[in-house]
Amino acid sequence: MLILRRKAENLGYLYRHDSVTYSLTITRSAATNYLFVIILMSTELYLDANATSPVLPAAIDAAVAAMQACFGNPSSSHASGLRAKALLDATRGQARRVLGAASGRVLFTSGATEGIQTAVLSALCAVAERRRRGEPCGDLLVVGATEHKAVPESLAHWNRLLGAGLELRMLPVDADGRHRLEVLRELAPRAAFVCTMAANNETGVVSDLDGIARVLAETSSPALWMVDCVQALGKLPLALDRTRIDYAPFSGHKLYAPKGVGLLYVREGAPYTPLMYGGGQEAGQRSGTENMAGIAALGAVLGALEQGGTFRNHAQLLAYRDRLAATLLDAFPGLVFNAPLEHALPTTLNFSVPGISSKELLDLFDAAGVRVSAGSACSAAKAAPSYVLDAMGVPVARSASAVRLSFGPLVDDAFIDAACAQLLHCGRALAAAQPAAALQQLESHGASGWLLFDTDGRHCIAIDPPAAHAPRIAADLRARGARLLACFDTSHGAGGADALCELLDMTPGWPGGAQQVLLADGSALDAIALGQDVLAKAGDAFLLGRPDQGVLAADAVRFAFGALAPQASFGATLCCHRIGEPALSRPGAASLPDDGIDLDAAAAEAFLRAHPDALLVDVRELAEHAAAAAQVGGRAAHNVPLSQLAGQAAQWLRGAPPALVFVCRSGNRSARAARTLRRLGHAQAWHLAGGLALAG
Ligand code: PLP
Repeated sequence: MLILRRKAENLGYLYRHDSVTYSLTITRSAATNYLFVIILMSTELYLDANATSPVLPAAIDAAVAAMQACFGNPSSSHASGLRAKALLDATRGQARRVLGAASGRVLFTSGATEGIQTAVLSALCAVAERRRRGEPCGDLLVVGATEHKAVPESLAHWNRLLGAGLELRMLPVDADGRHRLEVLRELAPRAAFVCTMAANNETGVVSDLDGIARVLAETSSPALWMVDCVQALGKLPLALDRTRIDYAPFSGHKLYAPKGVGLLYVREGAPYTPLMYGGGQEAGQRSGTENMAGIAALGAVLGALEQGGTFRNHAQLLAYRDRLAATLLDAFPGLVFNAPLEHALPTTLNFSVPGISSKELLDLFDAAGVRVSAGSACSAAKAAPSYVLDAMGVPVARSASAVRLSFGPLVDDAFIDAACAQLLHCGRALAAAQPAAALQQLESHGASGWLLFDTDGRHCIAIDPPAAHAPRIAADLRARGARLLACFDTSHGAGGADALCELLDMTPGWPGGAQQVLLADGSALDAIALGQDVLAKAGDAFLLGRPDQGVLAADAVRFAFGALAPQASFGATLCCHRIGEPALSRPGAASLPDDGIDLDAAAAEAFLRAHPDALLVDVRELAEHAAAAAQVGGRAAHNVPLSQLAGQAAQWLRGAPPALVFVCRSGNRSARAARTLRRLGHAQAWHLAGGLALAG
């Protein structure tokens, strides 16, 4: 057990043991005896605050109170309604003070996306009106290249819907992620509406709002100006009254309020068109009965901001970020930050670890209970490269490994201590020497390549290596001191053999001068020796097996790659395909349907209890397993990464395979493993649906 630090002056300690953080608090009882209280802290370290934040306990209390004691409709004239109205007014007053907006409109919305729609609609209606009156209004919609998608998407939508016919122009950013003011200077005289964010959600880069305001003023731009302030609240000083900003949307759930509540500031005199008409709530500016629970919760957060003492100040947050940054550099040699720290929010770090994809890093962090993301939460499921990093000119290889770590101003020393300890743990798990698998599958965009190693991992053959993996394979082979004996694509131009060979300075293709091996029928095939095995070339197929006295019998062929001739008979052989899901097939076995492979956590535990011989298999990668081994119902899992399943499946299927229950983080990889085994003819294959994430 490791004592990380003393939490308080004298009576609080923080311990870590086996990836779990324990807080030990010692309190003195009335009878002067010491009472020891151990609190088990969460193993989860939430570092994705730019996506959303947990809800402040005081905000939960305020929401509950608003639903219980103060449940009235603020539009009702009786006492219940008046109490709700008083809460609404008080919260608006707090918002005005926190935003520095004594004048202008401050409206409650459902969140920033609604605030953005309202601002866009207001600006476009104003442009139409100015045009009608023959006033100068500009013909460009200028939008920062790194804005949240809610901004360009709603600009395009309303421009189309209203038939405004304005031209959408991206305002580029420089390598630091800051708007290029010289380009704005060119566009500003023609700009009808300019949209720039206060701070970027992916990189934390803080915009030069004073610089933008100066350009708009110096060019006498007719533009209205919206600043998306979502990531600024609670992290940057705000004094909206003193700015030229016309519209500023905010979102509650980015700062410890619940989802579904937000604010929109509209400068006094700026054009305004309601998005929603109806009962005339919010003085007719936004109809619909107010979300009083959300507003009350937001009020609690605004109150905490106003009073101070709850949230850390800028200097404290900077110190925390610097500690996290230093720890990351320590934990992951070669790590680079994708945005200059001096221009970023004190709560956001965007970094890349060369050669390790975002997905691999996120899986590793998640295994260790560290919740981070690859970019914005909205695009997390799309797995597309970040348009924000693209706009900054970050090379694709680096943005493909980008990770965003963000925290909120509620963090404290103990949390940062635990986060640093866990980041170091992740770094160690990744760095731990990983043995070469005999057969490793490499996937990219639905295609598979294969790496074959001899038993001591010193010699390798690459078949259809995906080009995207080439740098990583080359680095890995160099690090292992392994020699690539051959590297080829099974059909011309299908894989990335050329790319890998170029990196390793060798010639792609089946090597000349290969030795020969005999088949049982006496025919001879060209072959490459790989330890005690050979890879033999049979037409367009490549057979991996162990010859006996120079003869490769059909049942000694374990794997086949490329196109196996239909008449060939290799009953026990697993065919490893370049395209297809699963990438494995077994010519001699009936493929079984893959329905009914899902077990929920309770069913998986019951199954494992009832079948002591069943094997629980963790198909996460080695580093993820090293970060935190998987267990289901107290049973420890055996680790076979999905990328190494082929080799293990071949072994299982050669004997009497045990019943198999696969697990992974989310249930995706485990479902693929179970499906693969079913299609290879093994009926006893299931997986934990929803993964370890849902099994708790
Ligand atoms: N703008 C920025 C910068 C954001 O980060 C987000 C949320 O991710 C939004 C707008 C959308 O906010 P909401 O979820 O409140 O609609």
